[in-house]
Amino acid sequence: MHEIVVNLHMHTRYSDGSGTHKDIAHAAMKTGLDAVIVTDHNVLVQGVEGYYRFGLSSRIRTGPVLLLVGQEVHDQDRDPQKNHLLVFNANRELASLADDPQALINGVHEAGGICFIAHPKDPEAPAFKETDISWEAWEVEGFTGIELWNGLSELKTVIPTKLHGAFYAYFPQFIGQRPILETLNRWDELLASGRRVVAIGGSDAHAMHMRMGPLQRVIFPYEFHFRTVNTHVFIPQPLTGDVSTDKKMIYDALGAGRCFVAYDLPASTRGFRFNAKGREQSAIMGDEIPVKGGVTLQVSLPKPADIRLIRDGRVVGTWNQSYAYTHIATEPGAYRVEVERNYLGLKRGWIYSNPIYVR
Ligand SMILES: [Zn+2]
Ligand SMILES: [Zn+2]
Repeated sequence: MHEIVVNLHMHTRYSDGSGTHKDIAHAAMKTGLDAVIVTDHNVLVQGVEGYYRFGLSSRIRTGPVLLLVGQEVHDQDRDPQKNHLLVFNANRELASLADDPQALINGVHEAGGICFIAHPKDPEAPAFKETDISWEAWEVEGFTGIELWNGLSELKTVIPTKLHGAFYAYFPQFIGQRPILETLNRWDELLASGRRVVAIGGSDAHAMHMRMGPLQRVIFPYEFHFRTVNTHVFIPQPLTGDVSTDKKMIYDALGAGRCFVAYDLPASTRGFRFNAKGREQSAIMGDEIPVKGGVTLQVSLPKPADIRLIRDGRVVGTWNQSYAYTHIATEPGAYRVEVERNYLGLKRGWIYSNPIYVR
């Protein structure tokens, strides 16, 4: 399996972002991403998918970057705005189904796509007249997964006043701490009920323009987001350079949960692995493996950090300041790993793996 770094969920001028697809590809290349997935609101932008190359300074990695296009669909007539769904790989625009979340999810499958509940918990930020746009239609079935960590939702949790907003606009590295607890708990509940739910991390980058009195700047530029919450994806072979082959590998992996959510700002998470070995087979994140005879779970990290192993929402082991650990699982359940490390004076979430389903 080959690891690639993908940033997904972002907006251009086709909806409420300030940049173009080219700006995004340029920022992605500068930050060393392998791929980005642009998801404008209620529109499937055609004709921009592909590999982008720019002549950058030789000090910067200059490999091409793959830009893919999905959509973020929601009912624009609904007030307040809730139930945003990230849709990837669908062959058509689906905004016409947005008023019924279940019909929308069914439509995604009919169109050959996969879908993720965007910012499941997204609090209001009254100082900026931002409303709560959480997901409310939890009765739905058939969604591929959830956006466990959304950069913008987290920002809304730390800006009770305009002054806080101004501080974080200049010092955005202090924002990221961990996914919103309610979303983590929701995920664990879904997993404990026996469902397969893939977690992804999204930036929700808009590169917004902010004006506060004499202050004016682009806050949270794409480049900043691309260094923070990413989704690391495991594909069966390195990217080939052929758009349709690579697109299929990425979406197959996301659909199967062969990925982890990473906060790459404190240190790159490239190299994290979470694998399982059973009596007769082995597994990676997203896979199922029989419990019979015991399953050895193995975690390894690129740098030492605090590791927690969680089964169906309950912590079954912690290993502090470790590079690796192994644990023999004898009970069935969805096993996932959380890793934290200290950064800028706080313990912050670094890695949230997808589960290995021991059955
Ligand atoms: Zn949204
Ligand atoms: Zn969005």
